[in-house]
Amino acid sequence: MNQLQQEIKRRRTFAIISHPDAGKTTLTEKLLLLGGAIRTAGAVKSRKAEKFATSDWMELEKKRGISVTSSVMQFEYDGYKINILDTPGHQDFSEDTYRTLMAVDSVVMIIDAAKGVEPQTIKLFKVCRDRGIPIFTFINKLDRQGKEPLELFEEIEKVLGIESYPINYPIGMGQSFRGVYDRQEHKIEWYNEKRERQVQSLSDVDELSDILRDSVDDFTLGQLEENLMLLDEAGATFDLEAVKEGKQTPVFFGSAISSFGVPTFLEHYLKLAPQPQPRQSSKAVVQPDDTDFSGFVFKIQANMNPAHRDRIAFLRICSGRFEKGMSVYLDRTGKQLKLAQPQQFFADSREMIDEAYPGDIVGLYDTGFYQIGDTVCSAKDTYNFGALPQFSPEHFAKVRAKNAMKQKHFLKGVSQLAQEGAIQVYKTPYEETILGVVGTLQFDVFVYRMQAEYGVDLEIEHMPHQVAKWIAKREDAEALRRNANNLIVSDYKDRPVIIFENDFSLRWFQQKHPDVELRDSSHNM
Ligand code: GDP
Repeated sequence: MNQLQQEIKRRRTFAIISHPDAGKTTLTEKLLLLGGAIRTAGAVKSRKAEKFATSDWMELEKKRGISVTSSVMQFEYDGYKINILDTPGHQDFSEDTYRTLMAVDSVVMIIDAAKGVEPQTIKLFKVCRDRGIPIFTFINKLDRQGKEPLELFEEIEKVLGIESYPINYPIGMGQSFRGVYDRQEHKIEWYNEKRERQVQSLSDVDELSDILRDSVDDFTLGQLEENLMLLDEAGATFDLEAVKEGKQTPVFFGSAISSFGVPTFLEHYLKLAPQPQPRQSSKAVVQPDDTDFSGFVFKIQANMNPAHRDRIAFLRICSGRFEKGMSVYLDRTGKQLKLAQPQQFFADSREMIDEAYPGDIVGLYDTGFYQIGDTVCSAKDTYNFGALPQFSPEHFAKVRAKNAMKQKHFLKGVSQLAQEGAIQVYKTPYEETILGVVGTLQFDVFVYRMQAEYGVDLEIEHMPHQVAKWIAKREDAEALRRNANNLIVSDYKDRPVIIFENDFSLRWFQQKHPDVELRDSSHNM
């Protein structure tokens, strides 16, 4: 194995998906603590707070008490290099989250034991399943009374449509929570007040009852024995291939707040989760250990420092070795460029780096050069990893500059902010500008940033519309435009889009025009 292959083999790149409040921040923090990337609990939250302080436009998110940014953190554990891609939990920013999921090799799904599978989890899960990426489940908050584990497995299977395989199983719950039992390695991990890791090995499952008899009541013990037997007999068998294809999810239990179950989860995860995987490009499948360097931009973020108007483009490395200052080609333009001043992100800092490997995320200074979905590669004969998915907006508003003299700034701001990918921009036949977003908070952010960054005060007029569909054939659009009842606009590439007030009006339209082909997004158009 050469050095490049060794570096690839020890990398794991994942995102955590969950519904707000399931414990993502807490778990992230405990993982970073384990990796020595932070020293004190609370650092992740304070890191967020610091970011707010250094950023004007993020005053907004502070006011709303949520995080609109997602960042990248790297740490080491047991010889592995781990990249966690943080995703904002708030549903208003799901589009950003979706794209982040394109840059990972696996996903950790946190479920609150009391709440089960929640709406935001379902939405994010679907994106992962469509991509066929491995999903690891951490069921959290076992220190509180929650749903029965078997009920949770059933929910995962019914609601998410994925087979679950519990690697460990909780002993009691809430007040009577004693720990977890590792079904494969026959180990009890005791939950204790001192928060020390205390593991006891058994010869097999039959020993479990003898050991637990003193510490759990008869009812709990009886139920545990029965459920473990049921799982062995009727539950799924562990299938690593199915895990790799995203068809089976290994399930772990714990209590992130007290770190319980977190190291065990991480150690299993590192062994089972895939290293950076090959990716399909427009030319061929690109292997991570190709000596040619390649990567793609999955996120662009305005700099958090208002003194510098530059942006950071987040590049996921797909193949080869990244070197500071290296020259690459941008597939979209064919132009050569130098990757100067690359940065890597840690829990509480970012640092200049000299090299990075597949699976790593590098931050590049961007003066408006990159677009989301851009591929860069060292081979002159360039290729790309395909456009990143766009999601159909659900909220629309007309915007214009209050002061007509500011029209030039207005257009510049609209096009630059649209390039970051959090909003979509449409034009009406009368040259009016319509914004489409996945979550309404984006409107506030947009108005705020147009003022703060481009000096343009906006008038915003919210529209009752909820659904956008791309019209597959331009001739259809022409014919439909003649009927004033249809709101037909053009997207930034001048492709026709029809906007409906609700699903009812969409269905009505489809009944009237069965021959008109409508698409959910502009993907491959
Ligand atoms: P996020 O919104 O998913 O990032 O969730 P947080 O990590 O901020 O956690 C939400 C709330 O749940 C916080 O008040 C945490 O202290 C609490 N929490 C997180 N993990 C646990 C846990 O294992 N047990 C209990 N009882 N509370 C937890």
